[in-house]
Amino acid sequence: MKDIVILGSTGSIGNNALDVISKKPDLFRVKAITANSNIKKLIEQTYKFSPKYVSVFDEKKNIEFRKIVSKKVKVLSPGVQGICELIELSKPDIVLSAISGAVGLLPIITAIKNSKRVCIANKEPMVMAGDMIVKLAKKKNVEIIPVDSEPSAIFQSLKGTEISRVSKIILTASGGPFYNFKGELSNVKLKDALKHPKWKMGKKISIDSATLMNKGLEAIEIKNLFSVDINKIDIVIHPQSVIHSAVEFIDGSIIAQLSNPDMRLPIQFSLTYPERCPSSVKKLDLFETEKLEFYRPDFKKFKSLDMALKAAKAGGLYPTILNGANEKAVELFIAGKIKFTDISDTVERVISLWKDSNSYKKITIADIIEADNWSREKALSVTQMTRTKKQEFLCFYQY
Ligand code: NDP
Ligand code: MG
Repeated sequence: MKDIVILGSTGSIGNNALDVISKKPDLFRVKAITANSNIKKLIEQTYKFSPKYVSVFDEKKNIEFRKIVSKKVKVLSPGVQGICELIELSKPDIVLSAISGAVGLLPIITAIKNSKRVCIANKEPMVMAGDMIVKLAKKKNVEIIPVDSEPSAIFQSLKGTEISRVSKIILTASGGPFYNFKGELSNVKLKDALKHPKWKMGKKISIDSATLMNKGLEAIEIKNLFSVDINKIDIVIHPQSVIHSAVEFIDGSIIAQLSNPDMRLPIQFSLTYPERCPSSVKKLDLFETEKLEFYRPDFKKFKSLDMALKAAKAGGLYPTILNGANEKAVELFIAGKIKFTDISDTVERVISLWKDSNSYKKITIADIIEADNWSREKALSVTQMTRTKKQEFLCFYQY
């Protein structure tokens, strides 16, 4: 019996994880859950799974939640502090990190210091501090198991083979809702950007999938997680989302992982690894499978992807700047304050303003948090510039 903590239990990954756990009551027990503000769902989950600890990030919702269920569970203080305390108190076997965004960074670090395994869906911290996280996990003898379908496919295809025997990582991408869109991207609406053709996910990752920033973030996550050269990661548009990624070895063999697109499969694998258990995921029927297609990405139409790969090559704090500016820009797009194409324009402008003076020294978590804050502030200020100023600005910056 393994004790599990789910960070972000009310989200898309969190719900899927609870579904997996509910079908394996002999293997897993929910020790603690967390959310930002969706206390309605958190209350339902608290009654269904009887966790010992719960944290609610939002201050007002934290008070509301306490009034309703405080007799049943220990409710931690709001904010990141509460999430970190919850991990420390629950002493779990596994922490599944399914928070959305950079806010999950300190909880992941705390999880490595306090559990035996950390299953990571929350890719943003892996973009900002992935190599630091991997090093810390090695030092603490903690397993990091990827949850996202592509890193999980690569993890499964590698099967422990040394990275020096890999000639290429084939990172597949569905292409999102706009890959074949012929209209003007600047006019697309939020509801269309949220309509992913293959996956049902939270808002932030759905928008990242529409801009293809998601694939760029995944490439950086994979680079950090498997210590692979970014130049060895090939991105392939594969609209059917059947091949979840593949590894080409030095002898020319390619090993891939295939399945129907259902996140419960990589979630379950991350929890049961190295075991494989039966799952309720519909099995892939090759006779019923659509024709599998593969295309080169269009880096001009989807410049977020191009910027992410450049940020990975530039190193230093560039990935943090890219991620922070993107998170702020996506938030503004979801709030209806900027257009779809302003997302990548904003990231581009913020990156152009960043002078990376850290490449010569060892980057610390404090540097990362400072750069993350800086990029969000800059993203907000560049989106507030007048159009004329923006145009003048675009003339002189270089990246
Ligand atoms: P959701 O938006 O559906 O869920 C996010 C979860 O995090 C919710 O529980 C939410 O709480 C909580 N949360 C959000 N903001 C904060 C905050 N500031 N402090 C504390 N908790 C917070 O996201 P997804 O489940 O789609 O994605 C989660 C992560 O997994 C992302 O990093 C994403 O990139 C990654 N991922 C997701 C996939 C998917 O299929 N969904 C696939 C692969 C990776 P509340 O509900 O109260 O807002
Ligand atoms: Mg993915």
